[in-house]
Amino acid sequence: PSIDSVKVAVRVRPFSQREKDAGSRCVISMNSSSTSVYDPKNPGHMKTFTFDLAYWSHSEFLKDKDGMLVSAGSNSRYAGQREVFRDLGQGVLDNAWQGYNATLLAYGQTGSGKSYSMIGYGANRGIIPVVCEELFKPIQNQENKQYQVTFSMLEIYNEQVIDLLSETKKPGGLKVREDQQQGFYVDGLKLVPCDSYAQIERLMEQGTKIRTTASTSMNATSSRSHMVITIQFKQVQYEETLFPLFNEDITKQSIINLVDLAGSERQKSSGSEGDRLREGTRVNLSLTTLGNVISALAEVAMGKKVLHIPYRDSVLTKLLQSALGGNSRTIMIAAISPADICYEETLSTLRYAERCKRTKKIKNKAVINASPME
Ligand code: ADP
Ligand code: MG
Repeated sequence: PSIDSVKVAVRVRPFSQREKDAGSRCVISMNSSSTSVYDPKNPGHMKTFTFDLAYWSHSEFLKDKDGMLVSAGSNSRYAGQREVFRDLGQGVLDNAWQGYNATLLAYGQTGSGKSYSMIGYGANRGIIPVVCEELFKPIQNQENKQYQVTFSMLEIYNEQVIDLLSETKKPGGLKVREDQQQGFYVDGLKLVPCDSYAQIERLMEQGTKIRTTASTSMNATSSRSHMVITIQFKQVQYEETLFPLFNEDITKQSIINLVDLAGSERQKSSGSEGDRLREGTRVNLSLTTLGNVISALAEVAMGKKVLHIPYRDSVLTKLLQSALGGNSRTIMIAAISPADICYEETLSTLRYAERCKRTKKIKNKAVINASPME
């Protein structure tokens, strides 16, 4: 696999009912890996961005017998969940088997399609469930090889960590601590060992329910929180040598972070109560810090001397630290609306993604998490 540490994909969704009702026009066009955005107030003006992948999921789809949206014949370019998994999810899995960490993030304004791509709705399952299901397929405990999968699911809201797999809510959230060995971690977070996809499916259902009730009780919507699913995948192989004394366990370990980010839209400051305002700034703080961290890493990789990578500035970047450095592959899906009324937000999403894409120049050497090191 390539050593490129950051891969960026853009995906444009169909019109929503609201956009249709407003008589919206589509301001996006895509051509292989380039995405153009037309300025609705300035006919003839457009901006073009080039990313690794561009998914046209805007129009011309059919429902198959299961209700899955698929391309409507040979003239349609509709990119469905299958294509997105094939390009992005499969790579995450391959990485995991080789012992690399991976982080997959969905960025974009509320309603742009982040959760659709990551989690999915109904038959249109997103990357997360399919990755989890596919992870178990090749697993068969052989005599000399064992596998461990653990699953955790949390939410970061207002810089507080909420365990989505725990019924009991800690006031003030769980503490993020730092440890010499494992870096930042969430103290007391439930890490559930899993041996089947069915089990993960149940946990995700449970977590989604808790997420909804948690946000209702805090008078918020899930669009203001980041959801982080972490899968730890460990392979232990017992190596027999000619000399039993030298027999040893070789372990390969991979951490997969799957992140549905909070909506990237600017919070309206007018008329917000103090609480809402603080919440808004904090959500943006995490997203801003994430962008700063990724671009600082890019500079490091290009040989610049960077004195400070601001991981510590937000809970999100603390928790992703080990998976955003050289030991990891990062994939970002920038989700956008096709509509003219979302022009400004769409531009800001693509600019954010462009800033992350510069890290493509990184030739970070990804290190396999294997012990002992070969
Ligand atoms: P977000 O998580 O960014 O707030 P959602 O993923 O919930 O947004 O998407 C908003 C709406 O758009 C949902 O009703 C979803 O079904 C629809 N949608 C998003 N992306 C697609 C897509 N690629 N194809 C079809 N429908 C989509
Ligand atoms: Mg969502």
